[in-house]
Amino acid sequence: MKFNTALLHSGKMGDEATGATLTPVYQSSAFYQPNAQQHEKLFHNKANGFSYTRINNPTIVAFENKMTALEKGIASIACASGMAAITNALLNIVNAGQEIVASSSLYGGSIDVFHDFEAFSITTHFVDVEDEADMEKVINENTRVIFAETIGNPKLDVVNIKKLADFAHDHGLPLVMDNTVATAYLVRPIELGADVVVNSTSKYINGNSDAISGVITDSGKFKWDKERYPGMKEYVRFGKFAYTAKLRNGLFRNTGACIAPQTAFYNMLGMETLGLRMERACSNAKALAEFLAQYDDVEVNYPGLPDSKWHSIANEVLENGYGAILTIRVGSKERAFDVINALTIPKIVSNIGDTKTLIIHPESTLNAHSTEKEKEEAGVFDDLIRISLGIEDIEDLIEDFKNALEK
Ligand SMILES: *Cc1c(COP(=O)(O)O)cnc(C)c1O
Repeated sequence: MKFNTALLHSGKMGDEATGATLTPVYQSSAFYQPNAQQHEKLFHNKANGFSYTRINNPTIVAFENKMTALEKGIASIACASGMAAITNALLNIVNAGQEIVASSSLYGGSIDVFHDFEAFSITTHFVDVEDEADMEKVINENTRVIFAETIGNPKLDVVNIKKLADFAHDHGLPLVMDNTVATAYLVRPIELGADVVVNSTSKYINGNSDAISGVITDSGKFKWDKERYPGMKEYVRFGKFAYTAKLRNGLFRNTGACIAPQTAFYNMLGMETLGLRMERACSNAKALAEFLAQYDDVEVNYPGLPDSKWHSIANEVLENGYGAILTIRVGSKERAFDVINALTIPKIVSNIGDTKTLIIHPESTLNAHSTEKEKEEAGVFDDLIRISLGIEDIEDLIEDFKNALEK
């Protein structure tokens, strides 16, 4: 099946017991058991079933299964937010005294959480993941994972996933990719060698910005070395599910990072139109980028423009489009604010992936906690505006931008 058909028809549809076309919301914190023996089995991973929604729930499992199919993995764990997913995905395999190598072009919240990890003696080295020599310099015997975004937010650099995965594996390291900005509509990192994929499903997956959540999807392919990842010892008996089993039996349940069943339901509704929304939002982004590129005093950054530094790699890595986000530099912070304030359709919102076009000045908001060096490496400048395209009619958006820029 192709993308949209698979979204709608892979896996079980709705509720087989009643014929409901949508999976019901099991708004229940806990599940009763037929007998004490069954309860014991559940707690020893010897039976399938549900006991407590912090651990799992039928609505959440249905959503996780859809994400697993979408990202071509073997198992997923849905979390309370994208940040909870990133935190859990990494701390499942990185201990105190160990190190993370991460792309310097990351979502501001991810840079912040890596700094929070320092309090637990976990150090992160921010590198240019296109520069293998730069990465070699910081990799040592304590390194446990490489982390990057498929399309960096907001630098919009497109990562050569296959090359980065090969590099990671040559060093015995797993590659964890944040696929939030691209989504599986544009690329499935697991198909290109990534070991674990995280998504902030608050964005394009949900699609309507009605709930916060995140998902970790495991490829099941990484061979965990028991000496390097001692925490994995107990879980190798789960075979290719070792990473997910460790997380679900450990940090994920114990930090209480669970998603709400209602959110899982919203996400499943949103996912049905992921392909349609992405198709429209990506074509809007390309058209707006081409329009804005005509202005001599506006510098446009969009991987879909032929003069983008990442155009050729985007053609190699991405299918179906170049993403629905673009950034522009307009010369000064003052002009950036004037343009943002003059627009009437895009709303000033610290979010991406909505049906509506959203706009933000990242330097004064999302990257408020970043150092000057971090901002520069993340491609965040004081005259930079980030635009997350929605599914409006492009003629209206172009007209609005024309008026705002010429004002
Ligand atoms: C929004 C975002 C996150 C964080 O997700 P939340 O759901 O807001 O916690 C992580 N990575 C990227 C690329 C994002 O855009």
